[in-house]
Amino acid sequence: MTKVAFLGLGTMGAGMAGQLLAKGFDLTVWNRSAEKAASLAAEGASVGATPALAAAGADIVISMLADDSASRAAWLGEEGALAAMAEGGLAIECSTVTAEWVNELAAAGADRSIAVLDAPVTGSKAQAASGGLRFLVGGPVEALDRARGVFDAMGNEILSCGPTGSGALLKLLNNYLCGVEVAALAEVIAFAEQAGLDVGMAIKVIAEGAPGSPIVRTLAQRMTGRDYTPHFFPALMAKDVRYAGEAMAREGMPSALAQAAEARFLAADEQGFGALDIATVIEPLRRAKH
Ligand code: NAP
Repeated sequence: MTKVAFLGLGTMGAGMAGQLLAKGFDLTVWNRSAEKAASLAAEGASVGATPALAAAGADIVISMLADDSASRAAWLGEEGALAAMAEGGLAIECSTVTAEWVNELAAAGADRSIAVLDAPVTGSKAQAASGGLRFLVGGPVEALDRARGVFDAMGNEILSCGPTGSGALLKLLNNYLCGVEVAALAEVIAFAEQAGLDVGMAIKVIAEGAPGSPIVRTLAQRMTGRDYTPHFFPALMAKDVRYAGEAMAREGMPSALAQAAEARFLAADEQGFGALDIATVIEPLRRAKH
């Protein structure tokens, strides 16, 4: 039976690891805040006290962590997973991180004959918990083929995007557009409220019309209903649009929109909404004195 280690049991990781366990993988988990491993342990997962202890003996190690720095610490830090893996193992980075970082991780893996895939996901908390994610995979196709079993357990679509880093880059572009749409939607709803428009009518026109993308429709409901149950934290969306903007700037195409959207999500985080959903990006606008 394939032995899998899973690093990071946040909103997404908890659901993904739960799917691996439900589908019969021999699973060891690690999370920085150890209490988040308790429910998976009760269902039969082993728990490693460090990334290295979780990864030791695993055929495949998967991580789902906040950002580049959390990922770097878990893979290459003092008690990092990579050094504990056996030669010939497979490392899969599912977090939304930069292409530069996954290329660095892949180089570190290659030194030890460990294949590395970047495999960020689309879908959110509900899809993670139900095995309905889409994986955007960068890296060698042979490694992807070895990972099919774990991807199939956690998702329903696997896209081979190209060489290492291409999954990461495509995910950043996807979330750049999501972030810009959601930030602009917050401005639209806050302004419609302030201007005394019939907000229900405004949302109907927008959601059913040309701007009505899936994320606009979903977030319009959450913003108008003030339903801030967390699915995706504002600081993570700020990180995604920042990474996307930095990637564009490196290629000589600085994005004013990425910076503007990042500022909106950071404002929500800084004004006390950090543990709630990205829909709270509207609250600083509602509270501003105009
Ligand atoms: P989350 O709930 O905030 O979980 C973040 C995870 O990273 C937790 O396990 C956290 O550990 C860990 N972490 C953060 N900083 C760390 C550090 N310095 N060292 C070690 N561990 C650290 O986030 P999430 O929503 O699951 O997202 C995880 C990744 O998936 C992110 O890259 C996000 O952008 C991406 N993503 C999210 C969604 C979504 O809808 N939520 C969808 C697609 C992709 P603690 O528990 O100890 O804090």
